[in-house]
Amino acid sequence: MANVTLEHVWKRYGGKVEAVIDLSLDIKDKEFFCLLGPSGCGKSSTLRMIAGLEEISQGKVLIGDQVVNEVEPKDRDIAMVFETYALYPHKKVFANMAFPLRVGKQNYSTAEIKRRVEKAAEILEISDFLDRYPKQLSGGQRQRVAIGRAIVREPQVFLLDEPISHLDAKLRTHMRGELKLLQRNLETTMVYVTHDQMEAMSMADRIAIMNFGVLQQVGTPDQIFNHPVNQFVAGFVGDPPMNFIDCDLEVSGDKWELVNESFRINLPQEMIDRYKQNNGDPKGNPKEMVLGIRPENFVVTDKQGGDETFPADVYVTEPLGEEMIVDIEIPKNKLKLKISVDRDIKTGDKIWLEVMKNKMHLFNRETEKAYF
Ligand code: ADP
Ligand code: MG
Repeated sequence: MANVTLEHVWKRYGGKVEAVIDLSLDIKDKEFFCLLGPSGCGKSSTLRMIAGLEEISQGKVLIGDQVVNEVEPKDRDIAMVFETYALYPHKKVFANMAFPLRVGKQNYSTAEIKRRVEKAAEILEISDFLDRYPKQLSGGQRQRVAIGRAIVREPQVFLLDEPISHLDAKLRTHMRGELKLLQRNLETTMVYVTHDQMEAMSMADRIAIMNFGVLQQVGTPDQIFNHPVNQFVAGFVGDPPMNFIDCDLEVSGDKWELVNESFRINLPQEMIDRYKQNNGDPKGNPKEMVLGIRPENFVVTDKQGGDETFPADVYVTEPLGEEMIVDIEIPKNKLKLKISVDRDIKTGDKIWLEVMKNKMHLFNRETEKAYF
């Protein structure tokens, strides 16, 4: 079993910088697990502590049932792939991939080395390049050699730190699919670091989102996207990001209304129930909150007027093939919509909008936590 467990792990650099703060994670055997967050949030520090390349300031890291805090990197049965992969320029692809097997203390036979390199090359579809030098390969092929060099060790856990961030957009999309397939075929646990939410959402079984060293949420891509626990997570996943609109919640009897300069929206009963379940009855009235609504969750309507429908001024449109991003202005807010290009909308137009009520998110304006 190669589950990876972090128990209250901290990383402090020079006693001052707190790069990772009290992080606990339970990464399952054979899981594709992504660590996601903006640059500097502590992803690499976390991965390097799992790898044994960085001392653990406090807490425990376990691989399987073994606490590995004091175990040397080479004895952890892990392999790591970095963004900047250093292949040996004067060795051919075969020799590059065989290298970790030749230098290890296991003393692999020539036949065994050949078997493992050829198998890894086959999985990565680079069998035809074994006799070439790195400079005779494209960026994507070189990265596959680097991954191959990790695979040949047949580790229990793979650690990847932004392994495809520097590739061009098209190749990156291609490699996303490949890496996911690779992880399924190898049946190993994979811990994958990225700052790219699309990458994490498209590949991971589960994602851990961090910010300033602090874990924000762990969940499946669906849970993270549809039930973000706070405004940071809500704003970090999804492109363009979720819109946030300041509102007041006015409660009178059974009627709960979300109110601002533009609209007065009746909360659906199901949302009221969920709110009460998590927060009890709201005390004080009105209550300041933030409505979160994704760009794709607006409806452009022909219906004008009414409390729940509101006008907006269009100031930029960006067509993106089937869809377009429309930047609009309502009193006190600038928002982005994502709608079908079939609607004939131009800069300078006034349009009327509704929100898809069942897609609304409500956050506490002070704590930025989701109410449900
Ligand atoms: P990420 O991989 O998410 O971009 P890192 O784990 O590399 O984040 O860094 C987290 C924080 O720790 C950052 O503020 C970074 O500047 C700091 N940091 C990383 N490595 C060191 C180091 N060797 N010495 C001091 N500070 C460091
Ligand atoms: Mg990093």
